[in-house]
Amino acid sequence: MSYFTLSRGAATQWYRTQRLADDITLIDEPAIKPFYRCNIWHLRGQDRDLVVDFGLGAVPLRESVAELSGHDIVAVASHTHFDHIGAAHEFDCCHVHSAEADILASPDNRRTLADAFVNDQMFDALPPPPYSHSGYRITTPPKIALLEDGDVIDLGNRQLEVIHTPGHSPGGIALWEAATATLISGDIIYDGELIEDLWHSNLDDYANSLRRLRRLPIRTVHGGHFPSFSGQHCHQLIDTWLETHQR
Ligand SMILES: [Zn+2]
Ligand SMILES: [Zn+2]
Repeated sequence: MSYFTLSRGAATQWYRTQRLADDITLIDEPAIKPFYRCNIWHLRGQDRDLVVDFGLGAVPLRESVAELSGHDIVAVASHTHFDHIGAAHEFDCCHVHSAEADILASPDNRRTLADAFVNDQMFDALPPPPYSHSGYRITTPPKIALLEDGDVIDLGNRQLEVIHTPGHSPGGIALWEAATATLISGDIIYDGELIEDLWHSNLDDYANSLRRLRRLPIRTVHGGHFPSFSGQHCHQLIDTWLETHQR
């Protein structure tokens, strides 16, 4: 075996789940390196559940994760980069902001960034066969529903408001649960290197989105990548970003 050959992960262990506070479960793919590893968020509700983002899609998601099998689930894409929408097609309907609906409807490897990032560098272990980098494709969800700023996703006993947060990408959204002061932020803010220079990024939009999030009385942020963090730390991250980028 070549020194450079990565091993293959087992399908049964591809996903990991961690139960957090407020009936929120983090689902992720530990064989993917942290910078590329998407956080998949599952929120349990009284009438229905919510799942935000779907990971790489190299291993079937719903049949692998008990929380996602057989429930009434509202599926939401925070945005349409490949690491977030790979398994979106496993849900009957996927919600996305209107500004990225065209990408979700035709999720080619260029616009979803798969061309730029899918290679050995993003893995500690590769997905099980038949996965290959060159064969990686994202399947279009059977149905796409549009979200706009101010829409409310109602799980019965809990409500999440859609906040349009363009900048990283034009149709990025965060979800705000006021009752628990929880922000599910996608890739606009997380506790790691933020990306604002993609083909459809916009620095002015990025700054405005961060300023808007800074006004929220946030207690906990669950980002698109890396571990969750406090509202206070969120303020620090935003202030540092605005200073660094002189916006
Ligand atoms: Zn992204
Ligand atoms: Zn991402």
